[in-house]
Amino acid sequence: MQTDNLVTLDRDHLVHPVVNYRTHEQRGVTVLTSGRGAYLQDSSGRELLDAFSGLWCVNTGYGHESIVRAAEEQMRQLPYATGYFHFGSEPAIRLAAKLVELTPASLQRVYFTMGGSDAVDSAIRFIVNYWNAQGKSEKKHFITLERGYHGSSSQGAGLTALPVFHRNFDLPLPNQHRIPSPYPYRNPLGSDPAAIIESSVAALRDKVHELGADRVAAFFCEPIQGSGGVIVPPKGWLKAMQECCQELGILFVVDEVITGFGRTGPMFACEAEGVTPDLMTLAKGLTAGYAPMGAVMMSDAVYQGIAEGAADLPIGHGHTYSAHPVSAAVALEVLRLYQEGGLLENGIALAPRFEEGLRAMLDHPLVGDARSRGFLGALELVADKQSKERFDPSLKLADRLFEAAYDNGIILRAFADNVLGFAPALCYTSNDFDLLFERLERTLNAVLDQPEVRQALR
Ligand code: PLP
Repeated sequence: MQTDNLVTLDRDHLVHPVVNYRTHEQRGVTVLTSGRGAYLQDSSGRELLDAFSGLWCVNTGYGHESIVRAAEEQMRQLPYATGYFHFGSEPAIRLAAKLVELTPASLQRVYFTMGGSDAVDSAIRFIVNYWNAQGKSEKKHFITLERGYHGSSSQGAGLTALPVFHRNFDLPLPNQHRIPSPYPYRNPLGSDPAAIIESSVAALRDKVHELGADRVAAFFCEPIQGSGGVIVPPKGWLKAMQECCQELGILFVVDEVITGFGRTGPMFACEAEGVTPDLMTLAKGLTAGYAPMGAVMMSDAVYQGIAEGAADLPIGHGHTYSAHPVSAAVALEVLRLYQEGGLLENGIALAPRFEEGLRAMLDHPLVGDARSRGFLGALELVADKQSKERFDPSLKLADRLFEAAYDNGIILRAFADNVLGFAPALCYTSNDFDLLFERLERTLNAVLDQPEVRQALR
């Protein structure tokens, strides 16, 4: 493929998400051209093992013909049907019913979006509407976790607690608050599960009391914090947070945009702890990235509350592409593959292989922590294993790691805090894992061989 022209056109015209614009202009785009299973090809014809499922979304792996057929048939039959004016389409209605069947019993209603950010944004709007409808219009404050990620909509980016999403964007808003992340590797109380859970519950309780329970609308959290560095809280944490929200009279919202659809083992992370949230946000694995789609699931109580509050007026929240029939048809086939195509089973069966491979990396001089649940995992690299001191940001270790991984044939996520994130597709085989860890070791050695890195190591 002739890509010189693409690199120039990209540099001149395409604004990429999140990257530093100047760095991108200098580096230039890497054009990906095709994918099969867990492997991608770039425009130079190079094959790469995708260890991140695109952006933690292609949970099925690439090239599933049955998904392509589902999209094609729906596009031919009826490419679009609005949800406005009481219209609908068969795949969207069937998908809503299927999601209600699959998600925790508390969730009875679905509003479809185009992705995760607008799912979070919609959840915020539904919550505001709900409390106003309940006559509790002072309940306007939202609490999230430090290092949380809830997308980049105008309000959602304020719930996101990563500084680059706030900088120069006038965020967070005055009604958006944070409590510490349950981060076992860096928790000042140590890694004792009970102490971590207790401190999160106490922090939420204190924050709600500080703001006043009658002023707090909801607590949002990810079951495992993804973009904040794949932070895996102890088992029982999510359940304890739900119980605390119930006790405090605030809504409990679980953002399963990453953790849903087999990523952590079961279909949803909530399942593992019997958690029944008031609202849940979904995207990514819902369509495995083959088409854009997200969803807000809500309890019947929230739905009925909004409905009652509207009297006979329309409820002013909507998107042209809500419940898009092509995305819905794709999602139905993707869900079939998870359940009947053996993908969920494979994720559960091979999770110990993934965990063992990550843990084996702890012997490497750069690796301070290895953590995972299901097919979601991370390695945290530190300058000093004893003190857990991070590398100086000026070393730009994350960029070095990303480029070295690419040179060694893997695509992974390298976060600014020197956390390497992994989200392999649920179609990975043992051989794929063997290859991943072989290439990963070469990657870490290549970075360690760089004199500036070796010098920075304590
Ligand atoms: N919520 C979580 C937990 C996410 O990880 C993401 C994206 O990574 C979002 C929301 C936003 O989703 P999207 O990028 O589809 O807008």
